[in-house]
Amino acid sequence: MNKLACPKCHQPLVLDQRSFRCQEGHCYDIAKSKYINLLLNPDKSTNNPGDSKESLVSRKAFLNQGYYNIICDQVIDCIDRYKKEDNPSILDLGCGEGYYTQRIKQHFIDSDIYGLDISKEAINMASKYRKDVTWIVGNSKNIPILDHSLDFVSALFTVVNQDELKRVLKKGGYVIHVTANPRHLIEIKELIYDEIKVKSDKYIRLDFPKVESFDLVKKVAITSREDALNLLKMTPHYYHIKKERRHVLDTLQGLDITIDVKITIYEV
Ligand SMILES: [Zn+2]
Repeated sequence: MNKLACPKCHQPLVLDQRSFRCQEGHCYDIAKSKYINLLLNPDKSTNNPGDSKESLVSRKAFLNQGYYNIICDQVIDCIDRYKKEDNPSILDLGCGEGYYTQRIKQHFIDSDIYGLDISKEAINMASKYRKDVTWIVGNSKNIPILDHSLDFVSALFTVVNQDELKRVLKKGGYVIHVTANPRHLIEIKELIYDEIKVKSDKYIRLDFPKVESFDLVKKVAITSREDALNLLKMTPHYYHIKKERRHVLDTLQGLDITIDVKITIYEV
């Protein structure tokens, strides 16, 4: 059974031909490419919230080369180690263009998997990966999922709302939280900025009991100019590059980068 809830009245949403409806008569059409838009108008801060199309396309191209598979594989491994049933239900929050989500689905093929992002463009791209994930355009501050219905929420490099995590997870459900450490992609910062502001060691801690936390650190060789440019374009740094440093992009070939992320598991 689907776990979708109406973003207006929070009643269950029931599939009715080509749309989803709640008891109160609120109705949401399913898009041609099979995602569902559950973002309310007042939720939208701009017409196109989320990442730009250019950034999303670069992101998809880069991730599909497999450079970040090690991160996703760790998330999958955590779910495998902590799951209490064979087919846990999982929400991938802030899923972007869906690369990680579809890999999670590949591994948990019989599970209900949801991918949610505020960007319609991102979800439209995500829905091209596979149709057996429930792709949702929605707001992480008003997650259109029924109360206490999920076993896991994965949140990779995305802002979370703790009250909403607590509401959608079952008691004893888990958050798999992936955040960037200060030295993550340090080479890109060195390339773009004259001076690197190293942020404090503090990382974003959630206010739930922590069951495990570890750093994942790995050097990765980016072997082509195209991949290196895509990596730059999927980070906010690219859009901060100064005119006088643009020349570094012209000669950029490969690049060695450091992946340095923290994976923290909370039991809610
Ligand atoms: Zn409703």
